[in-house]
Amino acid sequence: RYSTAAALEDPIKPPVSVQYSKLLINGQFVDAASGKTFPTLDPRSGEVIAHVAEGDAEDINRAVAAARKAFDEGPWPKMTAYERQKIMLRFADLVEKHNDEIAALETWDNGKPYEQSAQIEIPMFVRLFRYYAGWADKIHGLTIPADGPLHVQTLHEPIGVAGQIIPWNFPLLMFAWKVGPALACGNSVVLKTAEQTPLSALLVSKLFHEAGLPDGVLNIVSGFGPTAGAALCSHMDVDKLAFTGSTDTGKIVLELAAKSNLKSVTLELGGKSPFIVCEDADVDQAVELAHFSLFFNQGQCCCAGSRTFVHEKVYDEFLEKAKARALKRTVGDPFKAGIEQGPQIDQEQFEKILKYIKYGTESGATLETGGDRFGTKGYYIQPTVFSNVKDDMLIAKDEIFGPVQTVLKFKDLGEVIQRANNSRYGLAAGVFTHNLDTANTLMRALRVGTVWINCFDTFDATIPFGGYKMSGIGREKGEYSLKNYLQVKAVVTPLKNPAW
Ligand code: NAD
Repeated sequence: RYSTAAALEDPIKPPVSVQYSKLLINGQFVDAASGKTFPTLDPRSGEVIAHVAEGDAEDINRAVAAARKAFDEGPWPKMTAYERQKIMLRFADLVEKHNDEIAALETWDNGKPYEQSAQIEIPMFVRLFRYYAGWADKIHGLTIPADGPLHVQTLHEPIGVAGQIIPWNFPLLMFAWKVGPALACGNSVVLKTAEQTPLSALLVSKLFHEAGLPDGVLNIVSGFGPTAGAALCSHMDVDKLAFTGSTDTGKIVLELAAKSNLKSVTLELGGKSPFIVCEDADVDQAVELAHFSLFFNQGQCCCAGSRTFVHEKVYDEFLEKAKARALKRTVGDPFKAGIEQGPQIDQEQFEKILKYIKYGTESGATLETGGDRFGTKGYYIQPTVFSNVKDDMLIAKDEIFGPVQTVLKFKDLGEVIQRANNSRYGLAAGVFTHNLDTANTLMRALRVGTVWINCFDTFDATIPFGGYKMSGIGREKGEYSLKNYLQVKAVVTPLKNPAW
């Protein structure tokens, strides 16, 4: 594995070029009002990929005005649902056709293995859009048998202009989770992408317009959080806000929404998800799944299985095999075939992860393997495993967001339930057991938005996802996401002739 480090000195040339780097407002690619740009960097080297227009408050104003006009004057919310559905389906077809090009751009900007971009993220993006296109003509209200001679019905109407802010770990999936349901319901959107990964959203949005999306329905503003992001949260003409990112930023977002116009807010925030390996576990399978749950996407997943609780009966065997698995993990240039792990997103995250590794060693956890950068160029980190981790150590409490597995020992079910729930987060949990009673007990006792039993990271378009506690507010994906983007209007009329 370490023999590939030298190869990182000379990154593979990406098989794609950057075509779009401006803001997308009202169907046109435009410069930022200030004329400013910022560099987006290649995480394999820290070198500049492209200079991207840097939107700020003035550009958010322009984008919201375009979205408002597209909503108020149409045609998007006034089209038949079937017409909206056809445009979304044509878009999904176009993305599928351009799968490899989009995947290459995503890998270049984000650093995730090309095979994962091409075979997981883009196909899931396509599936999400087809799923929500399917909903477009199935959104309707109720007829309600109220007291009295009344005709009562509900209309499910789009909210209006949706502001959406996404992170850098899954730039395209986050785009799909947000834009798919918003547009299916007939809203218009202003999306602020993460400053680390602005490129793929611009490319797919261009394809959306080729598929027939009217101008102004989807506006993309690249830029930074405290400027463009905050302006979107505070805007008086934005009706709904959806955010994914850190819990600290989520609090700011909610406060800005409350201080401006009380726009409704959904938040997908951080996590410190337990992965619980029970005493009956097949250790080889448990090791593989626990490894996947933590290391997938360079460990940059909000729901990563970042507290690996292992029953004392299988602890020693598990640890030995988990360490061997981490040592076998292939780290390298994400454009190379067979690579499991590319670089972390940027210098800041790279340093933060190394700092947590240092905390782990200083606080008395045992460093089993890894613990340092990988190679000398770019933001690669060795797959790292800590054992003897105690609940009160920072590495067991904070979101590290990197390839660092922390293994904790437990004795019985009551104890592990209490410890797993002893977190400010409540996003997800993994449970590994073939004992039905154990699985049933854990699935009910864990205070989290998703419990994966003998699986992990199953992100089907139909399954709702979201957090308990400080992991967020609301659910995305599946039917549940639609209500984030709909208003319910009650309509009441007296019946002149109740008999009829
Ligand atoms: P972040 O929450 O600061 O950024 C996420 C998005 O919010 C970005 O688009 C950013 O520009 C925007 N943003 C930042 N400040 C804002 C503000 N004041 N107002 C409005 N929008 C704002 O996350 P980060 O700095 O990229 O990463 C920090 C940590 O967050 C990571 O180490 C990780 O622990 C966590 N994180 C979680 C997720 C997740 O999916 N839950 C994703 C990325 C990062």
